[in-house]
Amino acid sequence: MATLKFCGAAGTVTGSCSHITTDTAQFMVDCGLFQGNKTTQKLNYEEFPFDPRDVEFLILTHAHIDHSGLLPKLVKHGFNGPIYATSSTVDLLEFMLLDGASIQVSNTEHLNRKKKRRGLPQVQPLYVEEDAQQTLKQLRAVDYDQWFEPKPGVNIRFWNAGHILGSASAELKLKESDSDAPMRMLFSGDIGPEEKVFHPEPDAPDGFDYLICESTYGDRDRDDYTLVKRREALRDELVEGLARGGNVVIPSFSVERSQELLHDIGGLVATGEIENAEVYLDSPLARKVTKVFMKHVGVLEDIDVDPSELFRHKNFRMVESVDESKAVNRIKKGAIIISASGMCDAGRIQHHLKANIWRDKCTILFVGYQSPGTLGHIITSGAEDVKIHGELYKIKANIRRLGNYSAHADRSELVDWITERAPVVGGLFLNHGDDDARAALRELIAKKGIDKDKIHLPAFDESFELVASGVKSTGRSGVPAYEASLKNDWHNDYAKLLLEVTNRLENAKDGQERQAILGKLLASLKE
Ligand SMILES: [Zn+2]
Repeated sequence: MATLKFCGAAGTVTGSCSHITTDTAQFMVDCGLFQGNKTTQKLNYEEFPFDPRDVEFLILTHAHIDHSGLLPKLVKHGFNGPIYATSSTVDLLEFMLLDGASIQVSNTEHLNRKKKRRGLPQVQPLYVEEDAQQTLKQLRAVDYDQWFEPKPGVNIRFWNAGHILGSASAELKLKESDSDAPMRMLFSGDIGPEEKVFHPEPDAPDGFDYLICESTYGDRDRDDYTLVKRREALRDELVEGLARGGNVVIPSFSVERSQELLHDIGGLVATGEIENAEVYLDSPLARKVTKVFMKHVGVLEDIDVDPSELFRHKNFRMVESVDESKAVNRIKKGAIIISASGMCDAGRIQHHLKANIWRDKCTILFVGYQSPGTLGHIITSGAEDVKIHGELYKIKANIRRLGNYSAHADRSELVDWITERAPVVGGLFLNHGDDDARAALRELIAKKGIDKDKIHLPAFDESFELVASGVKSTGRSGVPAYEASLKNDWHNDYAKLLLEVTNRLENAKDGQERQAILGKLLASLKE
């Protein structure tokens, strides 16, 4: 009998982590970082709800940090088995995990300085560079479409998931004794859309006992688009942005999104549709990831330049040092600046926002999902001013959004992908999506003929026994309940309130009015 436990990405879209126990093996699929508001991030510091030393091996579906970002923590706590991933994923992780470690260390230093000033105890980083280095040593590259056997009775094969470079769905055959028929499982990982530059459509076989599928866009269909249409929309934004007489700043994820943008912008510059623009990629990680893409250029599809020319247009500037980055901050017009992080909550993008967001000739163009609580979310929600590095900035730049750069399948594509995997006889688990998305997707799938009772929406920390007749929940192991606070994190409301108070005080006509406002606030606190 096997047990499947959802240790993350259940009711949320981050912290992807599944733990599987059979009579003869114990292993994991993915080990991702929890990202989002402070309440969600705190989950990264919880103990794993199993002993990492007992885990024999791990299957990694792709390099995104919400699937791989806690691997060094797992290793730090005693996991010493192999980590199986595609060769592109292995190459991406070399930079991403070290980048992750340096972010952990610098964030902790910053936090500890604050804590010291307040007389509070110091905290340890989640992991440090040595843990990331050790994790890299445990990686094992495996090709798509090739069975491998981490231990007798466990056979695994990767399928192209079409989501990012190296992304895979993992097919498993588990055999507990010679007489039993093997149990067939499929973990979708993250699934890409049908229209995507660089990668073919997602693919996998059919006929499973258990299917575990992501549901990020389970309740949303995107507008129909083609790669050509998308590039036209990007062109219109860039042409209009540059015509305003300032810069166009694009917050972008380092992995895949930055490379898609470079590919599309390269095409627009080459055909003269965008003239005279200098294009800066200012993210150390994105620059390294771009090199991994160049190394694997042979597997990239739909590229419209000679592969040897990809990302090498003469107008492109790959910014390296901090001094070069500061020089880009001083450019007043005519620059397209792609920088990370994609949600603006860290990295060099914050400096570019500081230099451009208060200028009405500039444009900030968002091309990715903005998680609630992030700086990017605040800016795209129509705020009039924002705090960056403790300073208040008026938002005068034109704030624009372009929605078609998603790396995820939308609702119809998910439904198609799932129904193509039928029959699924034991159970279908929908994870990696919020509760509304999962519930909506369940209804749609049920209409397509999969028994609704067999479609499960696992809770965070919930375990299931995979038995012959189907699935039996065995409940949760007792990680503190957090669902309610994940959605309504008080830190964001608090930040908003502080901003409101500052605004009100600054706009008051004199000291007397300010005293009156403060008096009222204090009185209401005492109520
Ligand atoms: Zn992903």
